[in-house]
Amino acid sequence: MDVSTNPHARTEDDAFHEECGVFGVWGAQDAAALTALGLHALQHRGQEAAGIVSFSGEGQFHAHKGRGLVGDTFSDAKVMASLKGHAAIGHNRYATTGESALRNVQPLYADFEFGGLAVAHNGNLTNAFALKRALVRRGCLFQSTTDSEVFVHLIAISLYSTVLDRLIDALKQVQGAYSLVTLHDGALIGARDPLGVRPLVLGRLGGPESNAWVMTSETCALDIVGAEFVRDIEPGEVVIADAQGLRSIKPFGRQQGRFCIFEYIYFARPDSVIEGTSVYDTRKRIGAELSRESGVPADVIVPVPDSGVPAAMGYAAEAGIPFELGIIRNHYVGRTFIEPTDQIRHLGVKLKHSANRVMIQGRRVVLVDDSIVRGTTSKKIVEMVRQAGASEVHMRIAAPPTTHPCFYGIDTPDRDKLLAANNSVEEMARFIGADSLAFISLDGLYRALGKPGRDPRAPSFCDACFTGDYAIPLTDVQEDPARVPSLLMANGA
Ligand code: AMP
Repeated sequence: MDVSTNPHARTEDDAFHEECGVFGVWGAQDAAALTALGLHALQHRGQEAAGIVSFSGEGQFHAHKGRGLVGDTFSDAKVMASLKGHAAIGHNRYATTGESALRNVQPLYADFEFGGLAVAHNGNLTNAFALKRALVRRGCLFQSTTDSEVFVHLIAISLYSTVLDRLIDALKQVQGAYSLVTLHDGALIGARDPLGVRPLVLGRLGGPESNAWVMTSETCALDIVGAEFVRDIEPGEVVIADAQGLRSIKPFGRQQGRFCIFEYIYFARPDSVIEGTSVYDTRKRIGAELSRESGVPADVIVPVPDSGVPAAMGYAAEAGIPFELGIIRNHYVGRTFIEPTDQIRHLGVKLKHSANRVMIQGRRVVLVDDSIVRGTTSKKIVEMVRQAGASEVHMRIAAPPTTHPCFYGIDTPDRDKLLAANNSVEEMARFIGADSLAFISLDGLYRALGKPGRDPRAPSFCDACFTGDYAIPLTDVQEDPARVPSLLMANGA
């Protein structure tokens, strides 16, 4: 999130752009190379910038950051050789265009009273603007406009003596979602916010006796470096890897987590396992549930690739209708959703998908996609499938209607651009041009995740994008709603 304190300094940065991946390693040779691999596996969490800070002992930190894909930024042998050390952290992010982009690329690094410290953060703080204003008044000089920088200043001004105590002091002042890794002279530390909204896992390199640890957003990043999955870092947990081994503390006490349900639907990589549940299996179960809830006579089930594929497989198996790749995706185009303007995004959909005519012509087609946000993708895809000769086109969505923006780390447009916030399902069906449209129900989604349904008094997940039930206070938005136009006011959230 952009947290510029100058009200006139709004730029493209003002939108929420915090879809990120983090990776940290302690006690392993070639820590930076491992980190680059880990970030590569997490590329789906942010494709526009990446950075690594490594530590080689005796106060020596080394950093490299760049815009673009991880493979481009970290392919130069000289760059990799300069990132020396047995410990490193890295970050990849959805960055913005414009001059401010590079200074916002993480990890953020600063020299403190106790030495150097680097921070990489996935998530979004909801009181960053308020904190920043107070910090600036105290004389803190911000170097970036990312919300994550408040961690740096809160750690710097903390009156505690150890780095760990200072970090916990900072964590207790922030609100919002964070899964972060920090690196300083003595340790790699991973921390997850008290509700555990964003994922963070712990892995081990080199066998059960070794003291080489990885803390990262998803298990797919453990797999790529050959690390063994140890466990999820728990909501509200702080895990420290240092020369003595591994320690864990829980500064916030115990509470029921609210993991982001949208990670299961769309954001996480299908081969990742989160809180003991396979993302891929979950998506298939969502598809099966969707078929039970709103099946329709059809000849073929076609996924909108790639994110709709597992749900479509589950749907087809449950419905007993053939599954076919009726749409082919061009893999050399980035995700359409993150293109900077509506016009380009519109073009991007065409660049990205094309109809596999022989699988579609003369058939009743059920298209399965993971979600509808603005509706741009669905509209184009339905049009394309009709042009390819489908006799009927039914759209089935593996998520409930997205009616509310996310403030906890998923990039979402303003509420007025969310198709489901302003239209009934029938209106949406008309807008996208489908013969019928159905979304999985919220209870169906919870069932697919192994719950009996959504318990409104104690939901197991953060599902604010579907319910408007924001579990973490939205301090900045409530203080200054104009900063985030047309979002919450209509719902009194
Ligand atoms: P839209 O065209 O705006 O309805 O976008 C919907 C498509 O974007 C879906 O098919 C998803 O695969 C993808 N999508 C949904 N949420 C996000 C997000 N936060 N970031 C990037 N892509 C997304």
